[in-house]
Amino acid sequence: MLGLMQNHPLLISSLIEFAEKHHGDAEVVSRRVEGDIHRYTYKDVATRSRQVANALDRMQLAFGDRVATLAWNGYRHLELYFGVSGTGRVLHTLNPRLHPEQIAWIANHAEDQVMCFDMSFLPIIKAVHSKCSTIKHYIVLCDADKVPADTGIPGLQSYEAWMGAQPSTYTWPIFDENSASSMCYTSGTTGNPKAALYSHRSTILHAMAGAMPDALSMSARDCLLPVVPMFHVNAWGLPYSAAMTGAKLVFPGPAMDGKSIFELIEAEKVNFAAGVPTVWQMMIAHMQSGNLKFSTLKRTVIGGSACPPAMITAFNDLYGVEVLHAWGMTEMSPLGTVCTLKNKHLALSDADKMKIRLKQGRGIFGVDMKIVGDDGKDLPWDGKAYGDLLVKGPWIISDYFKGEGGSPLVDGWFPTGDVATIDADGYMQITDRSKDVIKSGGEWISSIDVENVAMAHPSVAMAACIGMKHPKWDERPIIAVVKKPGMDVSREELLAFYEGKTAKWQIPDDVVFVDSIPLGGTGKMMKTRLREVLKDYKLPSA
Ligand code: ADP
Repeated sequence: MLGLMQNHPLLISSLIEFAEKHHGDAEVVSRRVEGDIHRYTYKDVATRSRQVANALDRMQLAFGDRVATLAWNGYRHLELYFGVSGTGRVLHTLNPRLHPEQIAWIANHAEDQVMCFDMSFLPIIKAVHSKCSTIKHYIVLCDADKVPADTGIPGLQSYEAWMGAQPSTYTWPIFDENSASSMCYTSGTTGNPKAALYSHRSTILHAMAGAMPDALSMSARDCLLPVVPMFHVNAWGLPYSAAMTGAKLVFPGPAMDGKSIFELIEAEKVNFAAGVPTVWQMMIAHMQSGNLKFSTLKRTVIGGSACPPAMITAFNDLYGVEVLHAWGMTEMSPLGTVCTLKNKHLALSDADKMKIRLKQGRGIFGVDMKIVGDDGKDLPWDGKAYGDLLVKGPWIISDYFKGEGGSPLVDGWFPTGDVATIDADGYMQITDRSKDVIKSGGEWISSIDVENVAMAHPSVAMAACIGMKHPKWDERPIIAVVKKPGMDVSREELLAFYEGKTAKWQIPDDVVFVDSIPLGGTGKMMKTRLREVLKDYKLPSA
């Protein structure tokens, strides 16, 4: 017997319709590429998304055709989020930090038909347009009178001219909720990039689960600053969760430095921010140098790579900001776990609470997790046994776009490539990415643990631990360190700093001071590139 409830497909257009009707006057504020601050409301987002929808229909794109964006976080990008997916086309967010050759490869693989880009990325488009064989329309996100002349880009037009002349009425089509809505290529640290293809259903369910109190706890009382880019995994689904809850949105545009982010938080009274650790590193450095404090920021979600404990305590102790440590990946839309306490933890001391907060957190409803050993058998949830982490759920991929790389699933579970423990309360802690784990004398050393100790030293700005070949132990860890400006620490001092903080055999064999650590397109340390930089390095003990 079937239930007798209405059957409405879960569609992205419903988010902006809801935001317009219930939170029409809530603000969306953007720092623009032009440098000024743009301010309007969800009602305006909805109106202009409908104009985008009309403009796309006029181009006679087919249902499911890909519309690419190469853009910062801003209001026009948000309109494309709703306008493109709402019509049944697929929003393909491209990562401008990738090499132009890789961008061209990805655009061709995705068979993008339209390319919408911020003026900052004109040099990239100039370099790649002749190689992008499927793109028929180029749209630069600017006013009609700002289109640069003589670019050589065929049919280049401004976003405002393209959509501005269109009617603002539009009836969003109703279709199968399993239709594709957006796509994102993984950074491709190994092999060619592969795309996760999100659906309307997966996006809405993910946005709803992400907004729940034990996830990101979003509401109409929030003022949210997503520093995490809209060009990577839909900015963790935050634009969708924001529309679903009516939260005020603040977009940083291209200005991601510590000073600009701090000033935007203060000026717009942001209470909730989201970003990867490297962004907050820059902001904390800026605040410390000027002895600054926040007046409104209350919580920040940090993920994308392990958040060093020193950062969690700095936010908490110096600035009164609660850090929500979160974990996920492109293939998971991306949210998997968020670290929030349970009722029984409320009576714990601050120090004991902090021990829990350092973990990556509990699986949110919808995400099932397990850890397995080398034999593929389940490992216990005791907080000690570590193994490969596998996940399944309605916003986790079943296949990559075009079946690239074959089926990624093992008995219905997606192997994350991460190594983790899970404790009896369900808190997951990432030990390492499987390819970064250091195998020393039959034991595993977590590169994250080694980095976290170094990061707690007051003179260390950034630290990356990698394994080096060793004749006796197979591999031994070394730590590459960037010092804070004007600060000093010697190799011996830093190695002594490890004493008593980790087991002796987990202390790195050497410290290498470097000017910078290579970062990838999403702000993560690129250990493969660091290994290339250090290819002539020899371990002192080898
Ligand atoms: P890519 O896999 O291409 O690097 P993703 O953005 O999908 O790009 O990265 C997902 C990976 O990032 C995870 O598998 C994990 O290794 C790492 N990661 C994400 N969040 C965290 C976190 N909070 N702690 C540790 N690692 C994390």
